[in-house]
Amino acid sequence: MMFDLQYLRRLTETAAPAKNLAEVLAKAEALEKLSLEEVASLLAVTDAEDLAQIRQSGFRVKQEVFGPRVVLFAPLYLSNRCINNCLYCGFRAGNRERQTRTLSPEEAAAEAGHLAQLGYQRLLLVTSEHPDTGADYLEAVVRAIYERAAIRILHLNAPPMSQSNLRRLKEAGLGVYQVFQETYDPECYRELHPSGPKADFSRRLAVMDDAIAAGFDDVGLGVLLGLHHHRFEALATVAHSYYLRDRYHLNPHTLSVPRLRPAEGSPITTPPAPVSDPEFLKIVALYRLAVPTAGVVVTTRESKETREQALGAGASQISAGSRTDPGGYSEEGKTSQFEVEDRRTLEEVILDLVAAGHLPSLCTACYRSGRTGVRFAEMAGAGEIAAFCQSNAILTLAEYLAAHSSDGRFAQAEAMLQHLLEEIPDQKLRQSLARKLEEAQAGARDLHY
Ligand code: SAM
Ligand code: SF4
Repeated sequence: MMFDLQYLRRLTETAAPAKNLAEVLAKAEALEKLSLEEVASLLAVTDAEDLAQIRQSGFRVKQEVFGPRVVLFAPLYLSNRCINNCLYCGFRAGNRERQTRTLSPEEAAAEAGHLAQLGYQRLLLVTSEHPDTGADYLEAVVRAIYERAAIRILHLNAPPMSQSNLRRLKEAGLGVYQVFQETYDPECYRELHPSGPKADFSRRLAVMDDAIAAGFDDVGLGVLLGLHHHRFEALATVAHSYYLRDRYHLNPHTLSVPRLRPAEGSPITTPPAPVSDPEFLKIVALYRLAVPTAGVVVTTRESKETREQALGAGASQISAGSRTDPGGYSEEGKTSQFEVEDRRTLEEVILDLVAAGHLPSLCTACYRSGRTGVRFAEMAGAGEIAAFCQSNAILTLAEYLAAHSSDGRFAQAEAMLQHLLEEIPDQKLRQSLARKLEEAQAGARDLHY
C-alpha cells in the first residue's frame, strides 16, 4: 500500500483544530516537514482569525521560496473525444450532445503559434482519453509544436499510459506530467467513473510511480474539489506527495486545486461536497505549507477575486486567457470541458498582477538549463530559486513588454522592473541584468541565466 487511506479517513474524522497553531505555522515557515497529524489539525481549523493566519503563513512561505513571482501559462486542449464517462465532465462519452473535435498535430502547432504570439512561453497540453489520441498522437503533437511554434516548454495533463509510452513522451521534451486523482475515496471514485479505463481507481493511483519510472522528474497531482469531503481529499493529496518524496526523493512539481465547475451535458449540476471559498483558500495555503517547493496552481475555473485571494494564500502559478475547447484560441469553439470563470486576457492578468505587487513570470529557464526534479526542489528548499529566478522572471516580463508595448499601458510594469533591478544587492548581477534588459528592449529574446 502506498499510503493508508483508512488511516487518513480516521485522522480526518478525529482531528481537532490545531491548538498549537502558532507553533505548527512557525515550523512550516521554517520549511520543516509537517506530520500528517499536523496537516489534519490545520485542515480542521474553521475559526476565521485562525484561517487568516494560515493564509498569511502560506503567503510568507511562498515569498520565501519563490519571491514575488507568479508563473503564467495557458492550457491547450487537444481533443475532447473521450471513451470515459466521468459524470462531472462535458467531454464524457455519455454526453450525446457534445460535438467532438481532435486537433491534428499541425492544428495544435497553429494554436500554439497563436498563443506564442500573444506572449505565452509555457503551455499545458490537455487531452481526453481515446485510442486515436494515445502516445503516437501526443508525441507527434509535441514534436510539431516545438518545431513550429516559439513555445519553450510543454507540460501535459493526459490519462495514464504505459511506462514505455510515457518514456517516449518524456524524450520528446515534455516538462511536467500531471494527472489528477479526482478523489482519493474509492467508493466515490467508483460512482463518478462508471465506465472506460478511468474506472480503475488503482491504475490511476499508480500513475505517478509509472511516470517517475519512465523518467519524469516533475509530476503534478490534484483532486477535483467538490466531489468528496475536502479535508480528506487535501490530506490524501499531501500524503501522496509525502509518499513520492519518501520513496523517490521527489516532491510533486505542482499541486493543482481544480474546483468543480458546471459542465454542459453533465448530470452533476451542483457539487456533491461543495467547497466554500474560505475552505478553498485554506487548502491552497495548506498545500504551500506542507509542500513548500510545489507550484500551487489555480486556473481560470476560479474568479479573478478568488485567484487574487489564492495568491495571497500561497498560490504561485495561474493560467490566463484560457479556452477549454480544442481549437478554441483560433476559432469559435464547440464543446467546452467546463465553464471558465475568469475571462481576462494574458495582458489583463499581467497588468493586474503588477498592480497587486506580484511579478508575472513567463520564465522557462529552469527547463532550458536542466534545473528540474530533485535539483529544482533542493534549490527551492534552500531559498535559492527565489534569488536565482527573480532575474529570469524580470527578463521574461521585459521581453513581453518590449514585444507588446504601446500607448503607455505598461508604465507601471516598467516601473516595477526598474525598481526590482535597483533592489538587486549583488552589483555584478545588477549590471549584467541591466545590460540584458537593454538587449531585450532592442529586440533580443530568450535571455536567461
Ligand atoms: N482526460 C484526462 C483525465 O481525465 O485525466 C485529463 C484531462 S481532463 C480534461 C483534466 C481535469 O479536468 C480532470 O482531471 C478533472 O479534474 C478536471 N475536470 C473535469 N471536469 C471538470 C469540471 N466540470 N469542473 C472542473 N474541472 C473539471
Ligand atoms: Fe474524459 Fe478526462 Fe473528461 Fe473524464 S475528465 S470524461 S477522462 S476528458
